[in-house]
Amino acid sequence: ASAQPLMDIDPKLLKVQRTESPKKLLPAKDLIFGKNFTDHMLTVEWSSKHGWYAPQITPYQNLSLDPATCVFHYAFECFEGLKAYKDKDGVARLFRPDKNMARMNTSAARIALPTFGSEAMVELIKKFVALEERFIPEERGYSLYLRPTMIGTQKTLGVGPPRSALLYMIASPVGPYYPTGFKAVSLSARSDIVRAWPGGCGDKKLGANYAPCIKPQQEAAEQGYQQNLWLFGEEGYVTEVGTMNVFFAWKTPDGKKELITAPLDGTILNGVTRDSILELAREKLTKEGWTISERKFTIGEVAKAADEGRLLEAFGAGTAAVVSPINKINWDGGIHGDARDIHVPLQEGKEAGPLAENFWKWMAERQYGDVESDWSVKV
Ligand code: PMP
Repeated sequence: ASAQPLMDIDPKLLKVQRTESPKKLLPAKDLIFGKNFTDHMLTVEWSSKHGWYAPQITPYQNLSLDPATCVFHYAFECFEGLKAYKDKDGVARLFRPDKNMARMNTSAARIALPTFGSEAMVELIKKFVALEERFIPEERGYSLYLRPTMIGTQKTLGVGPPRSALLYMIASPVGPYYPTGFKAVSLSARSDIVRAWPGGCGDKKLGANYAPCIKPQQEAAEQGYQQNLWLFGEEGYVTEVGTMNVFFAWKTPDGKKELITAPLDGTILNGVTRDSILELAREKLTKEGWTISERKFTIGEVAKAADEGRLLEAFGAGTAAVVSPINKINWDGGIHGDARDIHVPLQEGKEAGPLAENFWKWMAERQYGDVESDWSVKV
């Protein structure tokens, strides 16, 4: 007999078991990122024999896993981060959830975890968010952070593809990243620590990519810098900042205005915010004479632009902060050079440049549904 085709995720099979002890909502001002969670969780189990089982929403609860479970030994884990926002009519909206689910599939595939139908998963996320709707604060700038996660659950110390897996999602209400307006960050750019490399897996959202970044972050903090600017290679290619993509705005040596970010060459995450900013920039800035570039550039070029008064702006881009203005970069000078600070201009009396302000506004308008767009998906 021929083998049965494996089951994909089927939202129609969803079983919901509601909590009998709903949590009290915290005052919006007391919300701390990733500390408090909603009443429920979404789980979908998978086995290599069956495929995906019926999805379930259950009360938020502990997982129970054997100490030999492969996730604990070989880091079979990938995750996503996206947000649900409440619009002015009180309707919950997701921002480009299809992009997150597509990215999760590429992350899962890279570590031999199962893939799934992205559209089916977006349907489940909508059902989950609808159930947890009361946890999305009404206040502007607030949202419900969603954390889809997949782990290998096979009980084995054998190094091989997991024969069972669990896809789950939890949710945490969050406040604005900058409650009192932008606060520009300072960066440490070192040549001796590398986050991602060609042929590696730094372009996937694997938990294993994040733990090794904490020590360099602590060292940066000890030196008085808030984040790391991740460089690659002897050339000092600029890749990402902390857990964000990074944009620079400068005048090229021949006087053209250019907004530049690293290309998707395997050394950066394919950020949803990055992609959205590029699309907005092409729509709104090209006609003002800007060139929008996805290409390699080096920290040496950034330093030179600063020295020659051509550096205009720099900012990180990611779901958490949307845009995060940068005011200073400490560069160790690379393999041959001397350490120095690169100063990035801000507007007089402000903590952001004009592009960062505009992108933040254009993104928020779409996330909160003030401006209708295909990116905003009503729950
Ligand atoms: N780079 C890294 C390493 C990240 O962890 C994130 C956050 N997911 C980003 C970039 C930004 O991606 P996004 O805009 O999809 O949040």
